Amino acid sequence: MEDFSKNYRDTLNTDIRFIKGVGEKRADAFNKMSVYNLWDLIYFFPRTYEDRREIKRISDLNSGDVCCIKAICVSGISQKRIKKNISLCGFQASDRTGVIFVKWFTNPNVKLSLKKGDEFIIYGRCINGYSGMEFEMTVMERSESPASTLQIVPVYPLSKGLTQNVVRNAIANAFVKVEKLVDVFDKSILERYSLMDINSAVGAMHSPENFETLKMARRRLSFEELFMLQLSLFLMRNNRDKDRNHPITDTFVVDEFIDSLPFELTKGQKNALDSILEDLSSDVSMNRLLQGDVGCGKTVVAAACMYVVAKNGYQCAMMAPTEILANQHYETLKKFFGDRIRIALLTGSTKKKKALYEKIEQGEYDVIIGTHAVIQKSVKFKNLLLAITDEQHRFGVNQRARLFEKSGNNFANVLVMSATPIPRTLALILYGDLDISVIDTKPAGRQEIETIFVNSSYKKRAYEFVRKELSRGRQGYVVCPLVSDSDSLSASSSEGMYETLSKKVFPEYKLGLIHGKMSNEEKDAVMEDFRKGEINLLVSTTVIEVGVDVPNSTIMVIENAERFGLSQLHQLRGRVGRGSEKSYCILISDSETKENAERMTIMTKSNDGMEIASKDLELRGSGEFFGTRQHGLPELKIANLFTDTDLLEDCRKLCEEIIKNDPHLQSEENRLIRQRIMSIYEKTNKKKILN
Ligand code: ADP
Ligand code: MG
Repeated sequence: MEDFSKNYRDTLNTDIRFIKGVGEKRADAFNKMSVYNLWDLIYFFPRTYEDRREIKRISDLNSGDVCCIKAICVSGISQKRIKKNISLCGFQASDRTGVIFVKWFTNPNVKLSLKKGDEFIIYGRCINGYSGMEFEMTVMERSESPASTLQIVPVYPLSKGLTQNVVRNAIANAFVKVEKLVDVFDKSILERYSLMDINSAVGAMHSPENFETLKMARRRLSFEELFMLQLSLFLMRNNRDKDRNHPITDTFVVDEFIDSLPFELTKGQKNALDSILEDLSSDVSMNRLLQGDVGCGKTVVAAACMYVVAKNGYQCAMMAPTEILANQHYETLKKFFGDRIRIALLTGSTKKKKALYEKIEQGEYDVIIGTHAVIQKSVKFKNLLLAITDEQHRFGVNQRARLFEKSGNNFANVLVMSATPIPRTLALILYGDLDISVIDTKPAGRQEIETIFVNSSYKKRAYEFVRKELSRGRQGYVVCPLVSDSDSLSASSSEGMYETLSKKVFPEYKLGLIHGKMSNEEKDAVMEDFRKGEINLLVSTTVIEVGVDVPNSTIMVIENAERFGLSQLHQLRGRVGRGSEKSYCILISDSETKENAERMTIMTKSNDGMEIASKDLELRGSGEFFGTRQHGLPELKIANLFTDTDLLEDCRKLCEEIIKNDPHLQSEENRLIRQRIMSIYEKTNKKKILN
């Protein structure tokens, strides 16, 4: 048994360059698509399928039909050179019901081996051409030996140097080598979840008999994919649970913090805070995600936790993705804490770092707020107990891990905060190694942001609207996609816009300019003036996308809105509507594509981050949306995290059951699952999941 299994594994690990029909050059092309070994190749599934099953009679053809015809060549073959390297070929084809001109383009040097009287099956598209109906040929085969017509044909993703035929052959040869895959699921599981067995499923993916079978095959493989993903995340979480913690003993101090706030916490905030405090007072370390849509008030929850930890005699660190945001948090927390907590700011532009490092190490600060600077080697803490990252989707997993290691003793508690809204089932997957709290309430008195979409002919009116808000003492933003004017890109730049707006449109108001190419000192100064209300209208790039909180801002204009992703627009828009005043967002775009119209409509209709995110996902695909690689996870090939929710639920139950009985997957029956997880996840994660 052991021997068989080793042979089997070796076979699956065969480098694809040794597969018949591949070789060195093509292997490189395959590698570009993350196909390295035989197993990858078998799991390299078509991008789509062409249904070439139907044969139509020529007399029944309509323009636009994509199908096969079975016809005899009844004329000579014409070949006309139309460009240096391209000839147009054609002949008259007849099937007794009618005659049609079949045509295709080819290289003039290709010798054609067909003659009058031959019979073919021809797959292609019927069009209305110069001489009436014509048939544009894609594939033509002799009728006695059809190999890629009269069936559903897979269409694979390609990279340079590969053709559909090369990929199809390589896959066929891969199957010759393996013959049969061993199923990771045993019969009882297959039956319980009505899953196709692995060999039928993989076979059907590459050459489906019909679309029903294909659907079953996808279901089976999605199940497998989601199962492996969830199980490895569960295993990661299990490993983590062993970390010991220094429990906080006095959580009641939180009341004095809450009492000192100028507002009531919302129900969502209270619940989140309760869970976090419970974690902090247990002897197992915390790994928690705090999720909530823009403006729901995550910062104050973080502040309350830090207050408690500090009052119990330990240090806290909070990391933000931008310097602007780190500064803002510093200001906010100073206000919340007064002189009850000793707080320091540590960013790239902090002066006299050395002295600060010393004080941090000696425990003279309770709370350290900063950017990446906080996780530099030179920063040592006296007794870090709580590490918080804000806008966690902006950081990689590794950075998160580094802040965690700072405690030196592996007993830090980690809280990550994110506004990226994802359904709970998905969060369980993506953050399967974290516990989750969701703040699903907005502070009382908030009004919906009204979003308006216009093209640039309405610009003047949009600016008049802005003026009206400014005249009432409110502030606003104008967001542009570019920093400076560009020759190659026709989009508004913040510098150009600032010039025009400050001189020509709003000469009576004070305008500010902020973008990523300014120095940190300059950015700070501008933000400071804006916060104090000394700047009325801030022209910016997306540097203000995350976190910025100036509640007096009620109007935002986004130029060239087509250049931003949906979730990004939602984040940007979240800079207004942070106080009790009614707020507005004006999207300006001249793009006339259908997709853009659709996107802008979603923005004007919805203020719900979750809804917007799922549309965004639909339009962009999951890999890009979640930045899956950033999470240290491999991309899902078949499963869809948004639509396969039923499968997700089944998988989760199965994973729980398996782990409960065999926490380290050491039993014989889970051997294959164990191997699969090691080969997929430990490879990408560079982290040991299994002992
Ligand atoms: P986000 O969750 O997007 O990070 P913030 O923490 O920046 O949101 O909070 C947004 C604004 O709402 C801030 O000005 C904050 O002071 C305010 N705020 C937070 N909680 C409440 C509350 N319970 N009642 C009223 N205002 C609140
Ligand atoms: Mg925030």
